[in-house]
Amino acid sequence: MAKPKVAFYWCASCGGCEEAVVDLAEGILTVVEAVDILFWPVALDFKRSDVEAMADGSLAVSFINGAIRSDEQEAMARLLRKKSKLVIAYGACAYQGGIPGLANLTEKEAILDYVYRLAPSNSDGNGVRPQTSMKVPEGDLELPVLYESVKALDQVIEVDYFVPGCPPTPKITLQAIEAILKGQLPEKGSVLAGDRALCYECELNSSKPEKLLVSELKRIHQVIPERDKCLLAQGILCLGPVTRGGCEAPCVKGGMPCTGCFGPLERVRDYGGKALSAIASIVDTSDENALAKALAALPDPAGTFYRYSVPTSILTRKRQAA
Ligand code: SF4
Ligand code: SF4
Repeated sequence: MAKPKVAFYWCASCGGCEEAVVDLAEGILTVVEAVDILFWPVALDFKRSDVEAMADGSLAVSFINGAIRSDEQEAMARLLRKKSKLVIAYGACAYQGGIPGLANLTEKEAILDYVYRLAPSNSDGNGVRPQTSMKVPEGDLELPVLYESVKALDQVIEVDYFVPGCPPTPKITLQAIEAILKGQLPEKGSVLAGDRALCYECELNSSKPEKLLVSELKRIHQVIPERDKCLLAQGILCLGPVTRGGCEAPCVKGGMPCTGCFGPLERVRDYGGKALSAIASIVDTSDENALAKALAALPDPAGTFYRYSVPTSILTRKRQAA
C-alpha cells in the first residue's frame, strides 16, 4: 500500500520547529517508515517546482511552521494548501504568530532602518538595503517582499489543525502524527493538545497555594528560585495557570517559568489579556509604592503577555498614528 505523502515547510521561523522534528530522535524512524516525505527544504533537496508538479490534494498532510511575513511565504503556504488534504500549523509562530509576530509592535520601516543603518554592526553606516528586484548581466534577481504586518498561518490560508509550542515537544509531535495516520483526529480547527492548564501537569503544583497572593513580582534572573516550590508562589512570573498544558512543563523542571508558548485554553479569546488579568489578580497590595515595585518586574508587558500571540490577539498590531 502506498504510504501517505508528507511535506514540511518553514516560513518566518527560527528553525527551532525544524529541530523539533529532528528531536524526535529514534521516533523519526517510525515516521519515515510510515510516510513518504516529499518536501522538506531544510533537510532534503526538493524545489518549489517539485511541489508545483504534484497533483492537487496529492499530499496527505503539510506541516507548516513559522509565521507569514513575506509574499514568498504566503505563496508557498497557498501552494502547499492546494496540494494537501490536511494543513497543520506547527508551532507557536504558525499557530498564533509567535516571536516574529512581536514585529507588529513596531513598523516595518523602523525594523529595516535599524537593521541596515542604526545597528552597531553597520560600521560603515551607508545604510544600503537589499532591493526586492535588481537587474544584473545574468538577468533579473528578485527577493521576497516583506509585509507590513506578520500573520499567523490561518490568517492567510485555511488550516485544519494546530500543534502548539515553541517548539512543539517530541511527544506532542508524535501524538499529532499518530492521530493523523490513524485517522483519529478531533473536530477540524482543533489544537492537538489537551485543554487543561499547565499547572495540572507541573510537578510543583502541590506547593501552589489554593489562594495565591504575592506582594511582589520578580524576574527569573533576579532570584535563585527554591526548587520545590511553585514559581508563581515565589512571585516569579510563571504563566502556567493560563497556558494550555501538554508539554509536561520542561521549562519549570529546568528552573524557568512558563512563558506561555502553548497558548490559551479553549474559550479564551485573547491570551495576553487573560494572562494580564490573572497576574494582576494575585498581586496583593493597595499600597502605591509596593504596586510600583511589582510593576517594575514588568518592563515589557506586551512582550511578556503577548510574546507568542500579537497577530492573533485582539490587538493584532500597533496602530499607526493617523
Ligand atoms: S514556534 Fe518557536 S521554535 Fe518554532 S519557529 Fe517559532 S520561534 Fe522557532
Ligand atoms: S504557576 Fe508555574 S510553577 Fe506554579 S504550578 Fe503552575 S506551572 Fe508550576
